Amino acid sequence: MYETITGTENKYFDGGCHCGAVRFRLIGPLTPLLICHCDDCRRISGTSWAATSVPDHCFKITSSSDALRWYDSSSWAKRGFCNVCGSCMFYSMNGEGRISIAPGVLDDNDMLRVRGQIFAISHPLWCKPDPDVPHLDDFFKP
Ligand SMILES: [Zn+2]
Ligand SMILES: [Zn+2]
Repeated sequence: MYETITGTENKYFDGGCHCGAVRFRLIGPLTPLLICHCDDCRRISGTSWAATSVPDHCFKITSSSDALRWYDSSSWAKRGFCNVCGSCMFYSMNGEGRISIAPGVLDDNDMLRVRGQIFAISHPLWCKPDPDVPHLDDFFKP
């Protein structure tokens, strides 16, 4: 079972990339954010990445363009990004049946909250992990 954010059940959440070529819609409930400091996230987004998530069937592309591309960032997961503006929006672990969505690409993301952080061991030294954000590495082994 996934922890969810109260008040997001059965609600629609629209979002899109920076240029607008990729637009999508989620149906809640949404999970609280996990912040990931792993090397893959930092290489791909430029810094630590964070995401909420929904099951695949609660995610739908609503734009008509074919700008969404998927990149196999490892043998176990892929990343979705806009082929036009480069926004790094989605993560999907192979076979998990869920999609993770970066908070910044949701049009309205004020209702989100943080659950915790993972891969603390890879956290860059130039910004210490916030000790008030729980470390959940033991719960989310790769
Ligand atoms: Zn775009
Ligand atoms: Zn990561």
